[in-house]
Amino acid sequence: MSAEKIPYKIYLEESEMPKAWYNLRADMKNKPAPLLNPATHEPMNAEELAGVFCDELIKQELDDTTPYFDIPEEIRNFYKMYRPSPLVRAYCLEEKLQTPAKIYYKFEGNNTSGSHKLNSAIAQAYYAKMQGLKGVTTETGAGQWGTALSMACSYFGLDCKVYMVKVSYEQKPFRREVMRTYGASVTPSPSTDTRVGRKILEEHPGTTGSLGCAISEAVEKATSTEGYRYVLGSVLNQVLLHQSVIGLETKAALDKYGVKPDIIIGCAGGGSNLGGLIAPFMGEKLRGEADYRIIAVEPASCPSFTRGKYAYDFCDTGMVCPLAKMYTLGSGFIPAPNHAGGLRYHGMSSTLSQLYADGLMEATGVPQTAVFEAAEQFARVEGILPAPESAHAIRVAIDEAMRCKETGEEKTIVFGLTGTGYFDMVAYEKFHDGKMEDYIPTDEELQASFDKLPKMD
Ligand SMILES: *Cc1c(COP(=O)(O)O)cnc(C)c1O
Repeated sequence: MSAEKIPYKIYLEESEMPKAWYNLRADMKNKPAPLLNPATHEPMNAEELAGVFCDELIKQELDDTTPYFDIPEEIRNFYKMYRPSPLVRAYCLEEKLQTPAKIYYKFEGNNTSGSHKLNSAIAQAYYAKMQGLKGVTTETGAGQWGTALSMACSYFGLDCKVYMVKVSYEQKPFRREVMRTYGASVTPSPSTDTRVGRKILEEHPGTTGSLGCAISEAVEKATSTEGYRYVLGSVLNQVLLHQSVIGLETKAALDKYGVKPDIIIGCAGGGSNLGGLIAPFMGEKLRGEADYRIIAVEPASCPSFTRGKYAYDFCDTGMVCPLAKMYTLGSGFIPAPNHAGGLRYHGMSSTLSQLYADGLMEATGVPQTAVFEAAEQFARVEGILPAPESAHAIRVAIDEAMRCKETGEEKTIVFGLTGTGYFDMVAYEKFHDGKMEDYIPTDEELQASFDKLPKMD
């Protein structure tokens, strides 16, 4: 089929939407390392995890062998309200760049939460409801996950308690109000609500909080409140499983037109959108059926993949969560304030970490101003105002397209456009006013953090 026939937007029919999530781990020869009990350093079993997480989600978390999980009908019906998300051929960007490359992006910002996080939020809320729970607790940094979870919980009539990193709580009042509109209670973290919050406040009075600290608070609240469990919006295997809907739709849309990508690019915070986008493609790569270049893009200010250590580490500041083996900057690492809040986590999905360690994907770190240059360039030609997180992928997609211009290669590039940036206009303002800084941590700073990694024997 000739290129002219490919429409600007490739949509799927409702009947073509995925009916099962794909579990990439089933095709991995080297499985991701298990979560460990922080006290005994033994792998966590389902019973130990049951106090923290919902039962069905624990099964998904621990299952490294089942390739497909049916998507329950209630979740598929919810998906139909905002999915399939469009796969857009970026003809306007290609024209602007004068590149022979063919660029596609999968746009996940078409729902009120403004990002892909709703794909997993609705699944996690569903399983909590099925278990007869009263509610769930979570943390949110930039606010996208908290918003998505609030929407999902209100749909199923579950209570939702969100610990929001204090600096975001104060800087992003509108995100907070969206969550409250959906009935969630939002508490700035650290708070005096929890033991761990009080301890952190005592040790660091005036702290503006961090994701790791908010996680500790949310976990404590869940484990100390009858009928509550804790849910997490990224990093975990179950989240990558739910997000595989992104990749499955992308592949189905490309297959309709016989298009095979050469390069697949996604931003990486905890790894959930990237893990979801690449899932079916990485599956083919693992089974030896196809080959793709896969690139994770992270902020140079929080470079887990490119400068982190592959080691067991705590997932939170309070060290109450299980240990995960991942590329990490150390759980005490507090990245310089940058404007891609969703990419400021110190660690990375253990599944993606294993794939990266095995050389099956690449990673690159990009400085903040270069990201916003790409965001602006994209917004002006493609009409979508991207989230700063998503713009990391745009940056590298444009760089790869420009490389094609030099070499004359007609590569097909697919990238994940994870969300919209309407709540990030303060960041855009800083960029426009020339006040944005490119902070890059020194080796000494990283080493100081690595020195505090848990000692494993
Ligand atoms: C949370 C978020 C990310 C990063 O999270 P991952 O789990 O790495 O996908 C990226 N983009 C947007 C818009 C987000 O909200």
